[in-house]
Amino acid sequence: MGLSQRITTLTGGGSDGWDVFIKARKMIAAGTPVTELTIGEHDIRTAAPILQDMHNSAMQGHTGYAMVPGTDALRDTVAQRTEARTRMPTTRDNVLITPGGQSALFAAHAAACDPGDVALYLDPYYATYPGTLRGVSAVPRAIQTRAEDAFQPRASDIEAAAEGARSLLINSPNNPTGTVYSRATLEGIAEVCQRHDLWLISDEVYDAQVWDGAHISPRALPGMAERTLVVGSMSKSHAMTGSRCGWLIGPDEVIAHLITFATHTTYGVPGFIQDASVFALTQGPDFEDDIAAPFRRRRAIAQRVLGAQNTVGLIPAQGAMYLMLDIRATGMSGDDFANALLDEHHIAVMPGESFGRAAAGHVRVAMTIEDTAFETALQQLCSFADARAASM
Ligand code: PMP
Repeated sequence: MGLSQRITTLTGGGSDGWDVFIKARKMIAAGTPVTELTIGEHDIRTAAPILQDMHNSAMQGHTGYAMVPGTDALRDTVAQRTEARTRMPTTRDNVLITPGGQSALFAAHAAACDPGDVALYLDPYYATYPGTLRGVSAVPRAIQTRAEDAFQPRASDIEAAAEGARSLLINSPNNPTGTVYSRATLEGIAEVCQRHDLWLISDEVYDAQVWDGAHISPRALPGMAERTLVVGSMSKSHAMTGSRCGWLIGPDEVIAHLITFATHTTYGVPGFIQDASVFALTQGPDFEDDIAAPFRRRRAIAQRVLGAQNTVGLIPAQGAMYLMLDIRATGMSGDDFANALLDEHHIAVMPGESFGRAAAGHVRVAMTIEDTAFETALQQLCSFADARAASM
């Protein structure tokens, strides 16, 4: 039986970039200890009081179908968080609760793009982006950002690719680069979107993890609320990756259509998860800071370790739980570097090439292990890079 083009071409036919990760997992399964710095998952679990609240909600019977758009309480709470952080008027009618940010990314593109429409995204990119765009039968068009700009997008590069496009997907704080887009960057992006009548889909799942500067939501820029769809999630800000609870924020008309879309796709998010998310969100920004604190600490460790050598460059890590390291001084590709580091030192990092073309010659390090082990691994990575650079 033939399958649809849409489903069989989702990854675009290439490698999905997870080879080093899979090799590391196989080594671990075979009994070889590996220092895992690959995926964006906290080294802490969901806090016990949140789980207790989830349990209480389930025991009280909130285990049936929940409201498809999200419970009123959660939509209101998400709207309040958005308003508090961005000063943009936001009500429950602007909020759709989704099974994680990933589902919100898909819904946003389903709302913005018809089959065959060009959907823009920035390279380097989070691994699922091109497949998500293909998933709604849009045509993904990547725009390269540049290491020399610390991967801040240039409005002129977006402008050059915008003709005939329907949407632009951005992500700040950025996975994989750790870059936080400046106000100037976002104003440039907003201008291009208005000039070319593009939907802006703004993935802000790391909005609680900013180490330098401030997170600016482009929805709050003049004239942008009507064309911006913001993706958010409990995953990163509250260490609730497995709970699969996120949201999309946008104009009420878009949300109304996406509620119908949700009725025919996800049918909503479990009520006990939503109740626990309300509980988690009402712990306030201090709780979110506590969840982010280990990454803030490890970023300081990385600045110290990398500041003491000259071979490996650190792209200014302004936010999110990752470091992007420039290893071009070794003469190796990110792929070769990551494979050799895994083989020789049993340290697993992601090749920059896993995230597109723009981060070639780089590796991404997730700051997701305990501080001392993290520091040791970074030191080993730098010594390895030194030895390779010296033998060039
Ligand atoms: N966007 C980015 C940039 C991410 O890194 C992730 C998860 N790693 C997601 C969206 C999706 O997260 P979730 O579905 O868990 O909310």
